[in-house]
Amino acid sequence: MPRQLNSADAAATHEYPAMVLLVDDQAIIGEAIRRALASESDIDFHYCSQPEEAVTVAERTKPTVILQDLVMPGTDGLTLVRRYRENATTRDIPIIVLSTKEEPTMKSAAFAAGANDYLVKLPDSIELIARIRYHSRSYLNLLQRDEAYRALRQSQQQLLETNLELQRLTNSDGLTSLSNRRYFDEYLGAEWKRAQREQTQLALLMIDVDAFKGYNDTYGHVAGDEVLRRVAAVIRENCARPADLPARFGGEEFSMILPATSPGGARLLAEKVRRAIETLRIPHACSPTGGFVTVSIGGAVIVPGGDADFSRLIEAADAGLYQAKRNGRNQVVMA
Ligand code: GH3
Ligand code: MG
Ligand code: MG
Repeated sequence: MPRQLNSADAAATHEYPAMVLLVDDQAIIGEAIRRALASESDIDFHYCSQPEEAVTVAERTKPTVILQDLVMPGTDGLTLVRRYRENATTRDIPIIVLSTKEEPTMKSAAFAAGANDYLVKLPDSIELIARIRYHSRSYLNLLQRDEAYRALRQSQQQLLETNLELQRLTNSDGLTSLSNRRYFDEYLGAEWKRAQREQTQLALLMIDVDAFKGYNDTYGHVAGDEVLRRVAAVIRENCARPADLPARFGGEEFSMILPATSPGGARLLAEKVRRAIETLRIPHACSPTGGFVTVSIGGAVIVPGGDADFSRLIEAADAGLYQAKRNGRNQVVMA
């Protein structure tokens, strides 16, 4: 007899369509259950009469409920229940065991093997349908919850990666990928405070390309950009310690922040950078220093004291750079 559904029932059941897999060797049981479920449009029905094929069929049809006969020739029902539970695809599917008798030892063995429910054949169709809907709904809720967690983890991971990338972009210079001025200020501020606390030396090099306006005028701005990239690469390579920071200070001017570095050490490094850039032998026809791209470098080392801020270090290195330019360029002057 067809059941009368009110609209609330209909909405609830269509939200959770059930897929039933019956595993029973007796075709007559298969037919009876099929008939009991026939009028339920939200319940799909599959029947498997071969116990050896049950797990494979369950993997393929992805039921939301398994109705499992207990006594079958060959592989018995309890063994199958254990197999569903051991299989990754069928592990969580609710299992209703169909037994021929209401027997406590059978019941407890079924639940111990991993069954979720126990019905005696042939169950009343109202009860059967209610239990199928109940188990199916809780299984679909479980799947939904797992999927929501998976999506949440994935979007958290994406957010993390986006934030890292954003941070990298905010802090780096687009042309050379060295740190930009924003990050230079932040880093120098932090290292200045640390050096002040620990009373250690903080060194800064200011590196400026010689006669770069003339280079742009001769070879064009695009070629000029390429020179800046190559100079930046040399500067990056020479920042050997993890705390050293290479940055593009602005235009054709670069800097190296060198924590815990002595004047002698800073001068040696500056000289190494100057020579490495000269050794690139990038032609520069109107260079006042001899036909190739060169840089002038000003350096300063300070142990921060009192209440001076880090701009004192920049000013001191700048004074060295100014002097290097005045002295004829392509050289290092430590302030
Ligand atoms: P000096 O030896 O005294 O440093 O002379 P200079 O010509 O290098 O100095 P000046 O400050 O007169 O010129 C700097 C030039 O650098 C002018 C500017 O167009 C160029 N410049 C600044 N930023 C960029 C850039 O991103 N790409 C290119 N191609 N040129 C740049
Ligand atoms: Mg210059
Ligand atoms: Mg300049």
